[in-house]
Amino acid sequence: MNQANSGSIMQGLLAVKSKTFLTPHYIRIVLSGDDIGNFEYAQVGDNNKLLIPNEYTDFTVEGRPEGDIRTYTLRALDLAKGEMTVDFVAHGEEGPASSWAINAQVSDQLMVFMKQKNKQLFKPADWYGLVGDHTALPVISVILESLPEDAVGKVLLEVYSSEDVLELLKPVGVDIQWIYNDRPGEQTLLPDFFTQVEIPENGTRFLFSAAEFQSVRAIQDQIRSKEFISRDEWQSFSYWKYGVAESDPKNNKKELTHRG
Ligand SMILES: Cc1cc2nc3c(=O)[nH]c(=O)nc-3n(C[C@H](O)[C@H](O)[C@H](O)COP(=O)(O)OP(=O)(O)OC[C@H]3O[C@@H](n4cnc5c(N)ncnc54)[C@H](O)[C@@H]3O)c2cc1C
Repeated sequence: MNQANSGSIMQGLLAVKSKTFLTPHYIRIVLSGDDIGNFEYAQVGDNNKLLIPNEYTDFTVEGRPEGDIRTYTLRALDLAKGEMTVDFVAHGEEGPASSWAINAQVSDQLMVFMKQKNKQLFKPADWYGLVGDHTALPVISVILESLPEDAVGKVLLEVYSSEDVLELLKPVGVDIQWIYNDRPGEQTLLPDFFTQVEIPENGTRFLFSAAEFQSVRAIQDQIRSKEFISRDEWQSFSYWKYGVAESDPKNNKKELTHRG
């Protein structure tokens, strides 16, 4: 990582090289193009901003074209092959990003923006607790792939159904529990399952949660109520808000981090 340029923006116009339904609700899109080299300092697991084209988008004009900006996770990057991978939840046609992925064809274009960072995805700890819904599956997959071989911990992953379970690379000592929720957002199951997780009181912990807003808020409240967990041992992020588009001002991601 080039630390000197941390914070600078990498951007590029890429096109769909391949599209695969990994499961009924997961679409893996592999992007490629001449601009892929602009992402030399991108880190897998970091979030990117995708400019999803709409009917007014013209990628040939100078500057930033019209389009809907949405946040996704850099699932994989292989500069030698010239490939960037993003996994999209297919949650329906009402959101521009989900709809774009469902309808995407090879050679469809997309603009990608990423901020150069030098932040570690996880803090080394004696025990890891990772909690996420379908939108956090990409980032949690990357964290699991990066953990030390002898890591121990518990992962809770909420997906639509057993058909959406993916085989994930993980350390042997980390246990994954899959939870099925076919009405994400409308009902939230993760907080109830989280109450049953036995978080060790001794040693150090790293807790990461990313999911729908209400779910993350409830999990955050549980974590805050445990006095043995210090503030630098947990991170939580709202990845989406039920009934609210990402572009809507009501979808205020800082709302969680600025509480109490
Ligand atoms: C840091 C970060 C990383 C993320 N990484 C990924 C990723 O790798 N893959 C991924 O799929 N998502 C990821 N997300 C979540 C994604 O940004 C949101 O789901 C986003 O709202 C999708 O945009 P959209 O255009 O499809 O829907 P929007 O236009 O934003 O929303 C339209 C409607 O769809 C609903 N909706 C939005 N997302 C979902 C959903 N997942 N399930 C059910 N209903 C939904 C909204 O509540 C709204 O009613 C990430 C979010 C953040 C903040």
